[in-house]
Amino acid sequence: MPFSSLGLSAPLLSAIARAGYTAPRPIQSEAIPAVLAGKDILGIAQTGSGKTAGFVLPILQLLQQKTAAKNRFIRALILVPTRELAVQVGEVCKQFSTGLARPVKTLAVFGGVSINPQMMQLSGVEVLVATPGRLLDLVDNNALQLSAVEMLVLDEADKMLNLGFKEEMNRIFALLPAKRQNLLFSATLGKDISTITEMLLHDPVKIEITPEVENLDLIQHIGYRVTEERKGPLLRYLIKEQNLQQVLIFTSSVHKADSVVHKLKINGIAALALHSQKSQAARTDALRYFKSGEIRVLVATDLASRGIDIPDLPVVINYELPRSPKDFIHRVGRTGRAGAEGTAISFVPAEDEQHFKVIQKKMGKWVNMVEAEGFNLHGY
Ligand code: AMP
Repeated sequence: MPFSSLGLSAPLLSAIARAGYTAPRPIQSEAIPAVLAGKDILGIAQTGSGKTAGFVLPILQLLQQKTAAKNRFIRALILVPTRELAVQVGEVCKQFSTGLARPVKTLAVFGGVSINPQMMQLSGVEVLVATPGRLLDLVDNNALQLSAVEMLVLDEADKMLNLGFKEEMNRIFALLPAKRQNLLFSATLGKDISTITEMLLHDPVKIEITPEVENLDLIQHIGYRVTEERKGPLLRYLIKEQNLQQVLIFTSSVHKADSVVHKLKINGIAALALHSQKSQAARTDALRYFKSGEIRVLVATDLASRGIDIPDLPVVINYELPRSPKDFIHRVGRTGRAGAEGTAISFVPAEDEQHFKVIQKKMGKWVNMVEAEGFNLHGY
């Protein structure tokens, strides 16, 4: 089914063509007509599925058909769990809102940066992408009104709950008018999500896109049995010997991420860290340099395992295994995207072997283990 049969207007179809999208993704084919019809949506889909355009396009279409609300009365609110996702969704909003018959102003707001510029930019905004905490700060500062919100999107709702935003979310829900359209997207459908779903959604259209686990088939897994002390040399050996040019590495702690970056740098490998203790500007820069190839290695904590879209990422390395198998799947799901093949490497010291078995069982895939003890890592 082509985009042109989904009910979108000509300016949006041109913007879609400019974005290089030739055919809608399954979630878009299902969500776009349903949102345009005013339905609530429960979308079980992950980043990478194309869900963002699936809600942004019909929201823009619906809004531009009507006249703007009063200044600082937001009409569509998109709640997201992280700053990175806010930036990403904000960019999609901008990308598609240019050239509309009636311009619709969009903005992304998030914490970790000064609030004042955001307050100034809010003038005339109709579509707001926000992390919950910063949204409430803005509300508390009387910078915006939520009483005219016609459409609410909860993006990565499961992650929002995992990050402990429940209280903020409830406060926000209480500020919204009762009559509105609700779109909820989540990678998983746990008990807490079901509760929110029942509370928020009215007779929703349920769209379930085969989970990211599906693309695990495109990912080649390799596990290295390696002691903690030899992880660093093994990492540099693999990067140099296999001439890896774009590698996303995961560690469990901020401290470890920084120390891996430090050691890579002193060994002549350009690397940056992406974690919660970096400033927003540093995080945005790190991602940009990594995407553009200016740095070869990005070392991230699990913060970056979701929501970040880097097309065609060839290699992901688990320098340390995550505690949760779900996080493992999200991490390795950063590669093998959009039909491209990818490699996921995991460093597994003896003490983690049992845990790695649990992860593999959850993933439904057994990983070939390579003994790294015999490697000559001298000089790496
Ligand atoms: P998302 O799941 O919304 O984060 O989207 C994942 C990636 O897919 C983004 O890089 C989008 O630009 C891209 N994308 C979304 N929809 C399409 C489409 N219909 N055709 C090609 N690429 C798309």
